[in-house]
Amino acid sequence: MRIAVISAEAVPYSKTGGLGDVAGALPKALRRVGVDSVLITPCYWQTKGEYLWSTAVEDLNVDWRGNVYLAKAFYSEANGSPTFLIDAPSFFHRDSIYGYREDHERFAFFNHAALVLLQRIGAAPDIVHLNDWHCGFAAAEIASRRRWDRYWQKTRTVFSIHNMAYQGVFGTEDLWKFGFDGEYERNAFLSNGAASAMKAGLSLSDTLSTVSRRYAVEIQMPENGYGLDWLVRQRADRLIGITNGVDYEVWNPRTDQEIGSHYDASNLEAKRECKRQLLEQFSLPVKLDRPIFANITRLTAQKGIDLMMQVAGEILSSGSFIISLGSGEKRYEDFWQSLRDYAPQQVGVYRGYNESLAHKIEAGADIFLMPSKFEPCGLNQMYSLRYGTVPIVRAVGGLDDTVQNFDSIDGTGNGFKFGPYRSDKFLERIYEALFAYADPDTWRNIQLNGMAEDNSWENAARKYVELYEWTRS
Ligand code: ADP
Repeated sequence: MRIAVISAEAVPYSKTGGLGDVAGALPKALRRVGVDSVLITPCYWQTKGEYLWSTAVEDLNVDWRGNVYLAKAFYSEANGSPTFLIDAPSFFHRDSIYGYREDHERFAFFNHAALVLLQRIGAAPDIVHLNDWHCGFAAAEIASRRRWDRYWQKTRTVFSIHNMAYQGVFGTEDLWKFGFDGEYERNAFLSNGAASAMKAGLSLSDTLSTVSRRYAVEIQMPENGYGLDWLVRQRADRLIGITNGVDYEVWNPRTDQEIGSHYDASNLEAKRECKRQLLEQFSLPVKLDRPIFANITRLTAQKGIDLMMQVAGEILSSGSFIISLGSGEKRYEDFWQSLRDYAPQQVGVYRGYNESLAHKIEAGADIFLMPSKFEPCGLNQMYSLRYGTVPIVRAVGGLDDTVQNFDSIDGTGNGFKFGPYRSDKFLERIYEALFAYADPDTWRNIQLNGMAEDNSWENAARKYVELYEWTRS
């Protein structure tokens, strides 16, 4: 079985969030379980030159919208699997990866170029695995071409939803420009008077998946469907949830190159050294008996920052530290900064994106906060589990699938979770965690339960293989 994974971002070439982690790791994991896969992703201005191993196609002529665009394709295996990076400077050499008015046009081009590239490099794949709205265009193009182009006749498509909140909506006039002017494709894109790339992906792909079992249910409800829940319900018999994996080659406190002291379940004491270094790095007093609460995230409403704002004062009153790494909406960045100004001896803030620091925080912190409004899968809670950093999460999406409440009677559970999006419910769990932290044996018990979890990509990759086989059948 030959698989082509197409994604707008993939680690280590590019990353703004979980999609990048998943698209980078899945092809490698697929190869480990014996599946032949290639990854196709854009070559951004941000993609480091060291990852571009060679030029695979010098003259990729992409005939699109009546013009011929000259592009290149680089080749790399920097993510552990064959990767083609499409280099088209006018579309991808920008200050940031997303955030432009013409993003739909940039990814429509990318999709078409990816399909041109596939045709150029060999036989059609059995499955094209598409990710998020950025790939809705390819779903439409393959579904359409399959009807008359022999090359694509046997290819089937899987469309994975990583976040339903981003749908790639644009004006319908561009459909005509992109060549989706037939009734079949047009109808697939049309959504409330506009065009939606997410809707095309959901409508025209052979099967659908999303990144946790719980989120597969949640997106069928209006509050998480963002206007497309009816379509997800309609296609529910073609939808499954597969919880993302963790790349334990990258996120493993035993081998992590970014952290100052290595540890695992058998020598958890060494985690204290990471904690000491983390406090020093943020110029906080080295009081190792006080817990560090941490948060690493894009600062958007989705991540429950409003709840964090409501409980921060209580956390500080307990004498604990809070460390935040993130960037995003100004009001949230301002909040963290003002909290730091208010309690400089207890609060550490880094505004921005910093991969290395993310590892140091996972290793040095005691408690990780993820009170998300919604969370398709979430990765940091799984990293936290492996690093012995106890997660407190809201019971939504992948957070609900991967975190179990600690039960002090039978000693089971790997963290703390609450249901309603309310600060008092969040605080209850925070107090419970502080109570457990005060007893070293209890705390160790929770840490070890988390460290024993196996959220490896190998498990997830096997489920994707089953999905691909189902899609072909
Ligand atoms: P989402 O995809 O919604 O952003 P996930 O939890 O699925 O959320 O994935 C987020 C990924 O991005 C994690 O690997 C997390 O560590 C990383 N990340 C988010 N913000 C930052 C930041 N400021 N610095 C470093 N890594 C970050």
